[in-house]
Amino acid sequence: MEKKFWNEAAENMSRDELSDLQWKKLTRQMDYIYNSSSYFKRQFDDIDLHPNDLRNIEEFRELPIFMDKQSDRETQEISREKLGHPFGEYLCASPRDVRAIHSTSGTTGVPVFEAFTQHDIFVQNEVVARTFWRAGLRPGDYVLHVSGLSMWLGGMVPMRAYEYMGLAGIPVGAESGISRVLDTAKLVKAKGMFCIPSFAEYIIRKTPEIAGLAASDLGIRIVIAVGEPGAGIPETRKKLQEGFGAKIFDSTGGIWGFAAISCDCEDYQGMHLVCEDYHYLDIVDPATKKPVDMSAGGGIGEMVHTALEWEAGPAFRYALGDVIELMTQTCTCGMPGMRMKYKGRIDDLLIVKGVNVFPAAVKGVIDSFIPKVTGEMRIVLTTPPPRVDPPLRMKLEYGHGVGKHERQALARTIENEISARLRIRPAIEMVPPDTLEKDPSKKARLIEKKF
Ligand SMILES: [Zn+2]
Repeated sequence: MEKKFWNEAAENMSRDELSDLQWKKLTRQMDYIYNSSSYFKRQFDDIDLHPNDLRNIEEFRELPIFMDKQSDRETQEISREKLGHPFGEYLCASPRDVRAIHSTSGTTGVPVFEAFTQHDIFVQNEVVARTFWRAGLRPGDYVLHVSGLSMWLGGMVPMRAYEYMGLAGIPVGAESGISRVLDTAKLVKAKGMFCIPSFAEYIIRKTPEIAGLAASDLGIRIVIAVGEPGAGIPETRKKLQEGFGAKIFDSTGGIWGFAAISCDCEDYQGMHLVCEDYHYLDIVDPATKKPVDMSAGGGIGEMVHTALEWEAGPAFRYALGDVIELMTQTCTCGMPGMRMKYKGRIDDLLIVKGVNVFPAAVKGVIDSFIPKVTGEMRIVLTTPPPRVDPPLRMKLEYGHGVGKHERQALARTIENEISARLRIRPAIEMVPPDTLEKDPSKKARLIEKKF
């Protein structure tokens, strides 16, 4: 019989076995980072603590945040100027042991670099392979790689993992354009596709026109959607399932041994962590940075990464501003492991009359009205977030063929629905289809700044 998991031993551990292993690896990792990086040593020294003082995971959870976007910038500046490399003062390995480098465009314009040792590459391949296996990909299968090759985690990380697992990745990349993507898809007949969900939607729209067939005729049966929460939004998921005649999986991770993928449940249950032997995922209150109580089966908070076995630039109490729901109860699919649902960016959080609203949640409601609307929308902000002077103003494209008289009633219906589901009442301005600018190769833009 075919095995259920890529790594049966690691992915099937009991909660107790896993907790023991996590603590063992964490203490070793803390020793390693304390002794190999002046940055980490200083963080511990600043709170008058030695890693050996910590007795259990509860005490570890009380540690402050050690790393964030701000510290990335500062330590990379220090390492560029004083250490002769761009990887940040928290590089624990020798720069000579770096075997892969990734960069992202930093918010200040200076690229942010991340380094990987040979062992880090192994860890990352291993956890990503676990997600591919759970999606149904098997050695010998082909995967059309349509997410940007220069992208941070969407590019070379999966490309390496395909090979590690015995798949063949076809590196076409969204940046090569829709025609090239479709030509390749038609000729190679890949079973899997790795893509951002909005580009997957774009492929469904464009295939008949450019390739003269339906997207479902391309032979793609497994879509791994990354980079945007699309596959977790029921309407988007349904659209992709039907458009390709494929199973759609929502996936994230790859770095620091972090990886998660959604399951096959009819209703979206979040992404199952497949990596708890390599990575400790925590959540803290976004305002106080104190650990969120998860005794009742989970909670909502800011995502905090800690790598348990990472050499180059390990995440340690690393908060990147993503808000998630973390669930500890067993999923209806019966697969083990904690699950997470992406809620939004702390930077995106809007507060309307004291109610927290994420633009992605608004988009979720809007998408349930497709095809009465195109799904393209903007929240118009006239002052800097998070506080919004009510009402929340929105522009929304009505669908093709929606008559003049219908539009006002439709706007009111959608306002009511948002009010019922998100507890805020927006003021919606309907605009014609194709009015709001979009770039299908990029992530959907939900905010229009007018300040
Ligand atoms: Zn599940």
